[in-house]
Amino acid sequence: MWADLATVGRDTGTGGYRRYAWTGTDGLLREWFRDEAAKRGLEVVSDRAGNLWAWTADPDAGGPGLVLGSHLDSVPDGGAFDGPLGIVSAFAALDRLDRAALRRPLGIACFADEEGARFGVACAGSRLLTGVLDPDRARALTDDDGTTMAEAMTAAGHDPAAVGRDEETLRRIGTFVELHVEQGRGLVEGSAPVGVADSIWPHGRWRLDLLGRADHAGTTRLADRDDPMLTLAAVVLEARAAAERHGTVATVGKLRVRPNGVNAIPSEVTAWLDARGADADDVRAVVAEVGKVAGTIPVEESWTPSTGFDAGLRDRLAELLDAPVLPTGAGHDAGILAAAGIPTAMLFVRNPTGVSHSPAEHAEDADCLAGVEALARVVEALA
Ligand SMILES: [Zn+2]
Repeated sequence: MWADLATVGRDTGTGGYRRYAWTGTDGLLREWFRDEAAKRGLEVVSDRAGNLWAWTADPDAGGPGLVLGSHLDSVPDGGAFDGPLGIVSAFAALDRLDRAALRRPLGIACFADEEGARFGVACAGSRLLTGVLDPDRARALTDDDGTTMAEAMTAAGHDPAAVGRDEETLRRIGTFVELHVEQGRGLVEGSAPVGVADSIWPHGRWRLDLLGRADHAGTTRLADRDDPMLTLAAVVLEARAAAERHGTVATVGKLRVRPNGVNAIPSEVTAWLDARGADADDVRAVVAEVGKVAGTIPVEESWTPSTGFDAGLRDRLAELLDAPVLPTGAGHDAGILAAAGIPTAMLFVRNPTGVSHSPAEHAEDADCLAGVEALARVVEALA
């Protein structure tokens, strides 16, 4: 399975993956998911948001079921493991199990548009499923080429008119367990290859529209310029300083410059701020202080409050797997489902460098196999 996925959406220059929602590449990945499910005799259904669900048995008859899974899309130049490891491990765990012994239906989920790389809202598929993302807002979101999510869904063969909270699908999920490569170094020091998630930090994304006046880079005197790139420089430094003051993290990782010419003073710079931390008030304070330096009110594109996973389930899995419990600053579909009241847990597989959202993201084969083994044990215990 890993070899089949290795080349899909990979940029030969950077070695990173560009697997964006509702593109042709995304279509290939979704087809791969359907093929793997079909090989195992699983029935695949798409929900209203376009998330795919592969079931061992009718979830309406014997459910609600236990669902494993993750996502297949990536950030720009992302790594191979973030997302796909959870889905490949779920199929591999199923292959190790005696299916006749399952006491309830087992599902494997492939969430659509987890990274939000194309339309700017992370976990769009699970947010639409649970109703926390407004369908009209989602349909109108645009990518960098001006294509709306509705248009992209239509091109990919999914009906955008169908999106919205999906009660039928939610009823089928008794428990959700997402395995994910660790995005940090919590497991590096210890001896355990697999950990159990404690909670997800509150986190969000904000857009800063910095306006100036386009002009000639050669003939305009410095004193006469209104250059938003200078504001941007201050904004980036303030994001770092404010994060240090408040004990959070903050990142400016995406920009849009108009007109984006070497010899033109920009008329407009749009910057996106990602801020996260253990305490929501600290995160809010960072955003406010960055906004003050920017001279504009940051436009909130998404916000996810602190998400604690089901404590009983967390403790049960930590004991079952003899695994350490870890917090994380990364958002996941599992967090969205947990916030919607579904008993949810996450397993993390050790990442020797801690690096993620980069081609350098890695996990050793032995640790990945330990993750598969852990998932299989979880299924035996819960289903
Ligand atoms: Zn992920």
